[in-house]
Amino acid sequence: MSCIFCQIGAGTIPSKVLFKDDKVIAFRDINPQAPVHIVIIPRKHFTNLNDIKGDDFGLIAYIISIATELARSEGIAESGYRIAVNSGKEGGQVVGHLHFHLLGGRQLTGELG
Ligand code: 5GP
Ligand code: ZN
Repeated sequence: MSCIFCQIGAGTIPSKVLFKDDKVIAFRDINPQAPVHIVIIPRKHFTNLNDIKGDDFGLIAYIISIATELARSEGIAESGYRIAVNSGKEGGQVVGHLHFHLLGGRQLTGELG
């Protein structure tokens, strides 16, 4: 298994896990870009959003629901946060396993800010 996030999902690469169930795992980013920077992944390997079809869009909605719960538990729900997906090379995706970034705890700027 060469995919780093599949290995995090399997627990063979350690991470600071905040939430996990049979579908999803959420862990702290190793190189945080904000005081709160959490990565949320489906356990199943999808390369990026282009791999999501049909019923799998329900999983995307579920991941966003987990992100909003984490925003609450991290104390950034009211101050504000960003949920971002980099999909493909020009989207800035580096790790080839679909993942969602939850960022907050400071004023976010950048391409959308
Ligand atoms: P991307 O640029 O692909 O959207 O984001 C990948 C993210 O995964 C980056 O923010 C990077 O810091 C994070 N990351 C890469 N490798 C690891 C790792 O081994 N552990 C953790 N916790 N985060 C990682
Ligand atoms: Zn993977």
